[in-house]
Amino acid sequence: MRGVVLHGPGDVRVEEREDPTIQEPTDAVIKIVAACVCGSDLWPYRGADPAENQLMGHEYVGVVEQIGDDVKTVKPGDFVVGSFVISDNTCPICTNGYQSRCVNGIFVDGQIGTQAEYARIPYADGTLVATPGQPDDDLIPSLLAASDVLGTGWFGAVAAEVGPGKSVAVVGDGAVGLMAVLAAKQLGAEKIIAMSRHESRQKLAKEFGATDIVEERGEAGVEKIKELTDGLGADSVIEAVGTQESMMQAVQSTRPGGHVGYVGVSHDVLLNGLELFFGLVHLHGGPAPVRRFLPELIQLIWDRKIEPGKVFDLELPLDRAAEGYQAMDERKAIKVLLKP
Ligand SMILES: [Zn+2]
Repeated sequence: MRGVVLHGPGDVRVEEREDPTIQEPTDAVIKIVAACVCGSDLWPYRGADPAENQLMGHEYVGVVEQIGDDVKTVKPGDFVVGSFVISDNTCPICTNGYQSRCVNGIFVDGQIGTQAEYARIPYADGTLVATPGQPDDDLIPSLLAASDVLGTGWFGAVAAEVGPGKSVAVVGDGAVGLMAVLAAKQLGAEKIIAMSRHESRQKLAKEFGATDIVEERGEAGVEKIKELTDGLGADSVIEAVGTQESMMQAVQSTRPGGHVGYVGVSHDVLLNGLELFFGLVHLHGGPAPVRRFLPELIQLIWDRKIEPGKVFDLELPLDRAAEGYQAMDERKAIKVLLKP
């Protein structure tokens, strides 16, 4: 089969890889229908994370081809959505809703790599969720978004305790930030402030439910959020970047007693203890337990109540994956869908 391998910074190749097969009775092999390039793929692409012959891709939807003898909840022919972390969904951590840190967890990125024609999915019952039927073509981008960016934005909102009547600020206008705006709207937030400097992303944020846009960053950005929230800061802030500046912007934009949900993959972020102490905010975040939310998110998409697939603004055949990475790196595309 064909699949994407990152040979080193900036060096994306689509090459022949071994066909996946059933190895454990809990495995499934799926034919990938759509995959995509993630903002987090850009860290190794830019050389900020080490990468050498890395199998790329962790977002996927597909059709089950084969299952092991112990797989019970999906069968050949089912259309499935999976999370970017393999989970058994039965261990104590999973049972508490934190499947992204399952005791048997495996990161799909690097280990499996779903920017490919096929993938072996371990713990198929605990990782994959079948859709109610075969989806219409126009639902596929939205279902694909559920695999990571939507699930991650949603977790950010849940971790930030977004709820009816609350004020919410979202730091980051990448796909995850935009999905956090959508999630905040669905969860009933009253004021949703998107921090963005890019016109096309501001427009999409408004479509997804943003009520206010803040272009300023750093201290000026924090001041602007306070102005919009009676001088107090937002009840809930979602951090969807992962840098020192964005994390501090999130913490400082939150009112005392409020909640920060951080889902941007952290890179060299250091927190000042005294500032945290007097900030008096709740911090919760990490790799999103997307599997927890998949059944609910799939249903919302199936019923056409949300359309997260709008976040994809470029579609390419898998063989042109390198162009997709480049477009996202140069911020010419928000998110790139790859079709094997
Ligand atoms: Zn588990």
